[in-house]
Amino acid sequence: MRNVVKVELGARSYEVRIGTGLIGNAGAEIRPLLRRPRVAVVTDATVGALHLAELRAGLGDVEMVSLALPPGEGTKCWAEFQRVVEWLLEQKVERKDIVVAFGGGVIGDLVGFAAAVLRRGVRFVQIPTSLLAQVDSSVGGKTGINSPAGKNLIGAFHQPSLVLADIDVLGTLTARDFLAGYGEVVKYGLLGDPLFFEWLEAEGPRLAAGDRATRLKAVTRSVEMKAEIVARDETEEGDRALLNLGHTFCHALEAATGYGERLLHGEGVAIGCALAFELSQRLGLCSQEAPSRVRAHLREMGMKVDLADIEGDLPDAEGLIALMAQDKKVLDGKLRFILARGIGEAFVTSDVPREVLKGLLEEALAARR
Ligand code: NAD
Repeated sequence: MRNVVKVELGARSYEVRIGTGLIGNAGAEIRPLLRRPRVAVVTDATVGALHLAELRAGLGDVEMVSLALPPGEGTKCWAEFQRVVEWLLEQKVERKDIVVAFGGGVIGDLVGFAAAVLRRGVRFVQIPTSLLAQVDSSVGGKTGINSPAGKNLIGAFHQPSLVLADIDVLGTLTARDFLAGYGEVVKYGLLGDPLFFEWLEAEGPRLAAGDRATRLKAVTRSVEMKAEIVARDETEEGDRALLNLGHTFCHALEAATGYGERLLHGEGVAIGCALAFELSQRLGLCSQEAPSRVRAHLREMGMKVDLADIEGDLPDAEGLIALMAQDKKVLDGKLRFILARGIGEAFVTSDVPREVLKGLLEEALAARR
């Protein structure tokens, strides 16, 4: 079982191979890119314990050195970034070598950024192991780390040379991490493909239960959509911002909850999508049916949908709006939102009256009490 999606970026084009058995065949998959039979692999401790032995075996006669970092969003920081870069230098990774990011979005973002700056840029391969990383973060070349001032504020565009998305590896994700990744899958349907959303409404439960054919299709369709948007707008001058549906809210909520276990990124995306559709409806852009359908599907999948689903304190509406102002999409000091005229019809706008936004957040916060 295998699908291949090409990310068309001229000389920086690459393949995303999606299927089963890719890790066990990693040596053959990666070897054409190698100048010498050696790779440096960076993973996190959880993924390393579960899957590094399989990767080592799959690499065959390609020598592998590896480093395992602590799991979790806190790892996307200066200290771990410095550790990775210095480790790669200690391993004498050369300009023509390949660095492998083997893990979820945290490892992909951090290691991609390290590869971007190491010796002014070395090539890297993404082997994404979380659903979120397979459908989103491993494709498109956004790399980086977090700052205390906000999420993903330090980074670079650096495209991978190859992405190997082995869907078998998803079987060891916790249910919570799997569903967090599903938040990004739903996002693709909501932003541009109503039939995909309809398919997810029907097949989502089977997908979550582990059906491989359904997983292959969901990952492939998501990657196709991302690849197509990235090819049109690599550095987010326009359409790529659509991929940020739900993210203006999400980034503020992640900052408010300390980038940790209280709220996973994909959970924030799901809540953010529900809020973006609610905001669209309040602005008269779409019918009430659209936000209701979004919420119903997220609920059916057992996902977080409301601010009330986040434990612990949150800032008030003004505090959340202040956090949104740190978003990278802010242009000329104005917040930009991805809103929708219906399911699958998202667009970018700066035209959101502050009182409507504040009213929405105040109501959502009040429902927590
Ligand atoms: P993550 O990397 O922290 O992985 C989530 C958890 O799952 C971790 O504890 C990890 O150890 C574990 N895990 C990963 N694969 C596993 C497996 N196969 N089996 C068992 N456990 C496994 O987080 P994530 O949700 O993958 O990614 C979130 C990050 O991705 C955020 O930092 C976000 O900003 C970033 N992101 C980046 C982009 C981009 O375009 N670069 C897009 C979306 C999200």
